[in-house]
Amino acid sequence: MKGERESLALRRPSFAYRAARSGKSELFCEAVALESLAARHGTPLYVYSAAMIRARLDAFARAFRPIPHTLCYSVKANSTLAILRLVAGEGVGFDVVSGGELQRVFRASPKGAGKVVFSGVGKTAAELEFALRSGILLFNAESASELKLLSATAARLKKRAAIAIRVNPDVSAKTHPYISTGLHQHKFGVPIPEARTLYALAAQQPYLTVAGVSVHIGSQITNMGTFQEALGRVADLVRRLRRQGHDIRYVDAGGGLGISYEGAQGNFEEQIAAYARAVLTPLRGLNVHLLLEPGRAIVGAAGVLLARVLYRKTNRRKRFLIVDAGMNDLLRPSLYSAYHEIVSVRRKSHETEITDVVGPICETGDFFARDRKLPLVDEGDLLAILDVGAYGSVLGSNYNTRGRAAEVLVDGTRAKVIRRRESFEDQMRMENP
Ligand SMILES: *Cc1c(COP(=O)(O)O)cnc(C)c1O
Repeated sequence: MKGERESLALRRPSFAYRAARSGKSELFCEAVALESLAARHGTPLYVYSAAMIRARLDAFARAFRPIPHTLCYSVKANSTLAILRLVAGEGVGFDVVSGGELQRVFRASPKGAGKVVFSGVGKTAAELEFALRSGILLFNAESASELKLLSATAARLKKRAAIAIRVNPDVSAKTHPYISTGLHQHKFGVPIPEARTLYALAAQQPYLTVAGVSVHIGSQITNMGTFQEALGRVADLVRRLRRQGHDIRYVDAGGGLGISYEGAQGNFEEQIAAYARAVLTPLRGLNVHLLLEPGRAIVGAAGVLLARVLYRKTNRRKRFLIVDAGMNDLLRPSLYSAYHEIVSVRRKSHETEITDVVGPICETGDFFARDRKLPLVDEGDLLAILDVGAYGSVLGSNYNTRGRAAEVLVDGTRAKVIRRRESFEDQMRMENP
């Protein structure tokens, strides 16, 4: 088995084992012991590292320095207000996929509209109107019907909308089918031949300004060739549209850069640099302003979920660790069979066992690990599920009438509760008995 020390090497310096006050080795987030956070705030508990989020934003900015660009952090990856505020504080914009996300962005960054792009296949009339009134940077339109509604709404409000068509480049992202979006059979984007027609149509609308071409082919993509292929098709389209007289100023390359969920797989600065090469090579000489919509690559590795072992249980020879976090707190293993490393926060034993790590919810799909080799832990011990900063808390639910987990943001020696634990009364507030 990979030692825990080795498996955590890449979450350094944000997550590392250090000698705690007791003298024993414990997992820390920056300068704060995770055991102390769990003791103070209870479990399950999401804990994020501000330093790691900043480092990743910095790495993106450095890698894309050769070209004018704007980072638009994908709000859906983690939309907790304090995270959005941290990201906005670094000068970064946002990619939203709903009116609710746009409202969140304005809470975090009241004057941030100029760096917001709005994506999504199902924008409602009310959402389009809200975004138009707010004066966002760009609408990524995904169908002829949406374009028509946007044009009519813009004309009625007498507000100009800058638009890009999100094209479906028909390339395979080679990722999980549920998070792959760039093939014809997926609901996302418009096939390139049809997009050409839509650009001609858009150019005739008095309140629409044709401004860009967008693409987003899926999530957790680790094959850089896929990005290069998609951007190559986008670059061809940009050249063709310009020949027809369209003023294409923006290329929106979407998000989708994957992270390493399974231990040591290289350094993220290098990964981002390789991604930048894949995106920038096809755009060479095109003279566009690049928009990027990373989500997972910014926040994924910056979060852990702390869970306490409630019970050890053995069914014949099968072992289970039943923990106090469930699929309502972290859905990714159930939804995508996603792999998350799990480590023991206090290192007590070198002995290991093969066990499942499961939650308390009445579903067989409520698991975090199956037949996993883990250090031997006792009831009451604290586990950390790694790399849950993206698509973790945002996919939380109240299934089994469980309150959503609390969230803490660590910044150096400081730790702040950025979302309090949801109470039973919070859940009851919406209901009329
Ligand atoms: C989800 C999404 C993103 C972010 O994807 P990541 O894989 O988290 O980087 C970016 N753009 C659009 C349009 C999305 O739907």
